[in-house]
This record gives sequence, structure tokens and C-alpha cells, in this order.
Amino acid sequence: MIVVLRKDANKAKQDQLIEWLKGMGLGIHVSVGEYQTILGLIGDTSKVDMDLIGSLDIVDSVKRVTDTFKCVNRQFHPDDTVVNVGDVKIGGGNFAMIAGPCSVESEEQIVFVAKAVKEAGANLLRGGAFKPRTSPYDFQGLKGEGIELLKIARKETGLPIVTEIMSVSDLPLFEDVDVLQVGARNMQNFDLLKELGRIGKPILLKRGLANTLKELLMSAEYIMASGNEQVILCERGIRTYSDYMRNTLDLSAVPMLHELSHLPVIVDPSHATGIARMVPPMALSAAACGADGLIIEVQ
Ligand code: PEP
Ligand code: MN
Repeated sequence: MIVVLRKDANKAKQDQLIEWLKGMGLGIHVSVGEYQTILGLIGDTSKVDMDLIGSLDIVDSVKRVTDTFKCVNRQFHPDDTVVNVGDVKIGGGNFAMIAGPCSVESEEQIVFVAKAVKEAGANLLRGGAFKPRTSPYDFQGLKGEGIELLKIARKETGLPIVTEIMSVSDLPLFEDVDVLQVGARNMQNFDLLKELGRIGKPILLKRGLANTLKELLMSAEYIMASGNEQVILCERGIRTYSDYMRNTLDLSAVPMLHELSHLPVIVDPSHATGIARMVPPMALSAAACGADGLIIEVQ
């Protein structure tokens, strides 16, 4: 349920209403916009008397939200969320360029790539230290050492770093990481999502290989419901019957996610297609359909 307050609503009365609703065991998400303040009610609202609330002089309107996702819902927060990473803004008209190698392999490699992507216009550096591999025999990443190398590359270039976390138990290693990525394979690792909701860092949440948009939004809801509002959604291709491409980049997800949610949406054309020459046209298409940024792998 959402309660839209009148533009000139008295602050003391607002606080009183919030306390009263909290007293009913509800969570209250307050969104202060330029033109209106919205209270998003989370929990069992079946006993809330809509007519009574609607009759208060500080209330403009009351509406039931039937969607299962609440905090991520645009109805709860009509303005775009802007995620800040140092000086870099993502969302609300700010376009982010994240680039870097799939895996961090050595200091020489990551510093070289970091300088090159900065030169090319990137404003964030990516690189995997923990790698979710299909085969246990493939390189699993440099883990903690990889994170240390990313920090060196950050020091050399000033670019904030984005890297994937796979397990709650690794969290202490990510203390000095700027953006924590949840990869496609972990999109529904609910324990991890809950834990990431308790840290005050931006989370880049990738859509699972075979997950719906509602499932993606519900995963973002896990993070937000635990208290972290800095979530960036990422479309990275889904599995279909496409034969010449690694995955199918679902670009229609971008405007749909923007309609459903206030969170920034970025696109990963690299994992979607798996083919370098497909990246430029897909990146341009992503920008054309309103993406708030790109994450691109660099060899
Ligand atoms: C990656 O970013 O290197 C990665 C493994 O991505 P995804 O989880 O989208 O496959
Ligand atoms: Mn990769």
C-alpha cells in the first residue's frame, strides 16, 4: 500500500502517522520526491483502514500495491534512484561505463587494462577475483589476491572497482571494494542477498541465465528489504534457443524494468553475446533503449 502525502503536509503530523503505522507492525519506506512524499507500507496491510487514512488532512491518496516487490517498485519511489560510487553517478540520466577483464590475472595485466579503459572513457573498473566457472578444472580466480591487485589498479587510475562476490563467507575480503557484483548464477542466493542488504555499498545485481524480470526484482527486493537501497540491475542475456550467440540479450528488459522499478538498469553486451564484434552494436542499442550504463569485458 502507498500513501501519497499532500505537498504541504505538516511534518509533525507526518511523523505521527508514520509512528502509528509502525505501531501496527508495518515497515515504512519513505520516499521524499521533488513534488510529493510517498509512504510505502510493507507487511500485512490487510487490517489498515484505507478510508481512515485517506480522510486525514495530510493525505492526498491511498493505493494498494498488488505487486510482490515493494521497495524496488516505482510506485513506492517515483523518482529514479541514483547510485553514487565515489564521484560516479549511475541512474537518473547519468550513464556509467564499467570496463575491464573477465578475470584479474596479474598486476601487470590489471594495471595495463585499467589505464587503457580509463583512456577510452570508462569511469569504473571491473575484474573478477572470484570466478563462477562451469567447470571445476577452469581457473577459479586469484580470490583475495585478485582483490588486492584491483586496489593497486584503482590507486594507479583512480577508477572505483567492481568485482563479484560468490559467498557470504568471503565478505570480509570485500571491505575496500567499491561495488559488489552478484553474478547471474547467484542471483537467487538469498542468504548472500540478505547479507548484502546489511552493508552500505552499491550492489550490481545481474539477471540469472533463466530468470524472469519479476524474479530479478524480487532478488533486488531481498537486498533493499535488508536495508541497502543502492542496487543496480543488470541485463546480461538469457538462455534461449539462439545458436550463434552465447545468450540472447533481452533489451526489452530495460524499458520494462524502468517502468516497474526506480533502480538503475545497466546492460552487459559481452556476456550476452560472447562475441567481441557484437558488443558495439548491442552497446549502442542498449543506450538507445534507455540503459543507465554498460559493463564491458576487455581482453
Ligand atoms: C562476469 O561478469 O564475469 C560474469 C561471470 O558474469 P555473469 O554472472 O553475467 O555470467
Ligand atoms: Mn566474464
